[in-house]
Amino acid sequence: MKIAIVGGGFYGTFLAHHLGPKHEVTLFEQSKELMNRSAIFNQSRLHAGFHYPRCLRTIAQTNEGYPRFVAEFGAFLRDIPRNVYAIRRDGKSRFAELKKNLAPYPTRFRETTAPAALKNPEEYEAFLEVDEKLILLDRLRAHLVAGLKATVVTGAEAIEIHSTTGAVKFRDGTVRKFDRVINATFTNPNLGLPIESGFHFAYELAAMVCLDSASGGESAITIIDGEYVSLYPNYEGQDTLSSVRFTPFVRPTNRMELEDAWRRRDQIAKDEKVQEKILEDGRRYLELDSVKNAHLWIAPKVKLRENFQSGAPSEVRSSGKVISVFCGKLDSVYSVLDQVRGLLGEPKA
Ligand SMILES: Cc1cc2nc3c(=O)[nH]c(=O)nc-3n(C[C@H](O)[C@H](O)[C@H](O)COP(=O)(O)OP(=O)(O)OC[C@H]3O[C@@H](n4cnc5c(N)ncnc54)[C@H](O)[C@@H]3O)c2cc1C
Repeated sequence: MKIAIVGGGFYGTFLAHHLGPKHEVTLFEQSKELMNRSAIFNQSRLHAGFHYPRCLRTIAQTNEGYPRFVAEFGAFLRDIPRNVYAIRRDGKSRFAELKKNLAPYPTRFRETTAPAALKNPEEYEAFLEVDEKLILLDRLRAHLVAGLKATVVTGAEAIEIHSTTGAVKFRDGTVRKFDRVINATFTNPNLGLPIESGFHFAYELAAMVCLDSASGGESAITIIDGEYVSLYPNYEGQDTLSSVRFTPFVRPTNRMELEDAWRRRDQIAKDEKVQEKILEDGRRYLELDSVKNAHLWIAPKVKLRENFQSGAPSEVRSSGKVISVFCGKLDSVYSVLDQVRGLLGEPKA
């Protein structure tokens, strides 16, 4: 089958990697290289559902994807010696609820003591040592790109996708036709879908502070569930500090505004003092006195409106020749792969 994949982030590149050997796949990316937005500027966390204790879909997708991700990409994962989830007493989830929601999946946590870097441990209901992993995204990107059995076209922005004909029109005016078109753009999954099948989104420009912290990349703390912060090692040997309050620093009302803010991201972040706000928020909960080499990672983010605060599930919708992928967590990509294979008439892996 002649398949176009539009969008060369993690989802598009992964799908090209899996579909390429069987089909004639062309991967179109609007920028100059693959995996250079949310695919790389994220918290590099292989999720196991703990981050979204109230969203059963996200828990199911990440728990089903986790072992498959480990089996396929184990060489690009690293264990984190001490990875603690801290459950706030004033948060939106209780430990009992979390245990109930995670009960159907292999237990990957044990109760532990408060990490030294956490301030005011009495404000927490429980501390869980959790078996998540760090994804070495730079190496994973190199591996995926090197192994692609697909034609890659960069600098190709799709501006129209026709679900009945499979035609894709690009910014430079060219039009190409395919048997199937997979939209993996993350920020524009309604391209090619009729209005009635479209997704309803909330858009964000998201920032995290990368820093050298006292833990030296050896420990992670995630405070749940509400407007708190998390500190997680990243693949560059630093940590990322993320704040539920200040990480989303622009909330555009539509995709054009999002793309405009993305182009001006560094200036907006500077004007809004985003780095200072995230660090200040971090210091409310964590000992972060010895912060060095701090800088921002910024990425565009799109969330489904229906579970915008509690979850980040993936979803697939199709119409005619178009299959549109809404990208959730990185390990949820297997739920998408299975659904895409089903729509292409292929057996499950
Ligand atoms: C701050 C932050 C932290 C996160 N932390 C984690 C985490 O720890 N673990 C986890 O699992 N997930 C995390 N996520 C979520 C995860 O990063 C995203 O869900 C995932 O990367 C999105 O899929 P993608 O990589 O395909 O998207 P993207 O990287 O955005 O890729 C989409 C690609 O499509 C291209 N494109 C867009 N429109 C067009 C067009 N019209 N024509 C051609 N190309 C187009 C873009 O240029 C881009 O390269 C985080 C996200 C953010 C923002």
